[in-house]
Amino acid sequence: MWLRTLDTLFFLLFIVILVFTTHGIAQAPTVRFVDGESKTLTDVESTLHQGIIYLPVETLKTVFDPEMTHPYHHPKKQLTLKTKGKELRLQMGETTVNIDSEKEPFILNSPPRVLQGQPMLPIEFFQKVLPRLDDVAVLYNRTLQRVRIMPKTVWAPETTDDTHEWVIIIDPGHGGKDDLGCKSQNGVIEKDVVLAVGKEIQRLGNQQGLSIRLTRDQDVKKSRIQRVQTTNRNQGQLFLSLHCNASFSPNHKGMRLYINNPNGQLRFKAAPIPVFGKKRLNILTQANFLKQSQDFASVLQKELNFLAEDPIVISEFPIIILADVYMPAVLLELGYLSNVDDATRLSNPNHIVQVAETIVRAIQIYSVSVNQSANPNGL
Ligand SMILES: [Zn+2]
Repeated sequence: MWLRTLDTLFFLLFIVILVFTTHGIAQAPTVRFVDGESKTLTDVESTLHQGIIYLPVETLKTVFDPEMTHPYHHPKKQLTLKTKGKELRLQMGETTVNIDSEKEPFILNSPPRVLQGQPMLPIEFFQKVLPRLDDVAVLYNRTLQRVRIMPKTVWAPETTDDTHEWVIIIDPGHGGKDDLGCKSQNGVIEKDVVLAVGKEIQRLGNQQGLSIRLTRDQDVKKSRIQRVQTTNRNQGQLFLSLHCNASFSPNHKGMRLYINNPNGQLRFKAAPIPVFGKKRLNILTQANFLKQSQDFASVLQKELNFLAEDPIVISEFPIIILADVYMPAVLLELGYLSNVDDATRLSNPNHIVQVAETIVRAIQIYSVSVNQSANPNGL
């Protein structure tokens, strides 16, 4: 009797261990590789080892270089990668990467390993080593398990002298004691999120030689008129207003982009506007920038899509805060605080930095495209 109970106990323990381990394997994420245009290149099943995501060496052929060869010496556990005219030598279990064109070996944090019978590379290899082999930049979105490989020109466009004179106005919405904006169930407040993103855009943008001004840089109340005055007084080249969304449905989530268009999808039956009134004049003035606002919004959309689960939608409405701004202007809703996933993301400082980095990159890409079209011969 005792023996049988013990047997059953062991059997149950075995089941528990089995379920636990298979559950661990099942958690290894699928990693999506996308190109500079955010188009999917491939989805790759990863293997998790000690919390590190590993991908088969073959992945490189699909996402980086179809011509690559990767002979593997089984007894010595040595992997040689021949790609883009360079030769790399890696030893399984060791963190050094010898690149024949470089004097010093490159050191990874996690070594390549033989997993499930084949040599595998840590995801860090894709991030850090590929830019050493070709003119590419690699971005990794850990939350969505997405890797974007794009030409370096897209990632770090040369900011011209013209762009250095640009002033970009970032408008973190709300502020002060009585204008909190919307709020999540776990206490994330819109006015704090947008200020954090705005300040990060300013810090990163200034590092890149862009002149970024904020309509508020602390937790203070600013009226719409004050924001518009600050903006127009600074004679900026771009205006970006930051907000968060809220919905009665907890399922609504994701970022949204808005452009002010008096003739947009929503047509208000408003009282007739006096022809010589200030408002009419203002709307017409912002309308002059409609095309540029659309261009800037579509660059933002393309770049921010990398951080978004679902493609971001651009809507055109009459938007009062943008209507009086005399420059290309876009409003970005960073996510729904009424949604648990969005609220969690927006309370994560890493996500804030990623969003800010992406916005700065979009500003650079847009500014370069404007300068190029103004100066098609690069003169
Ligand atoms: Zn708001």
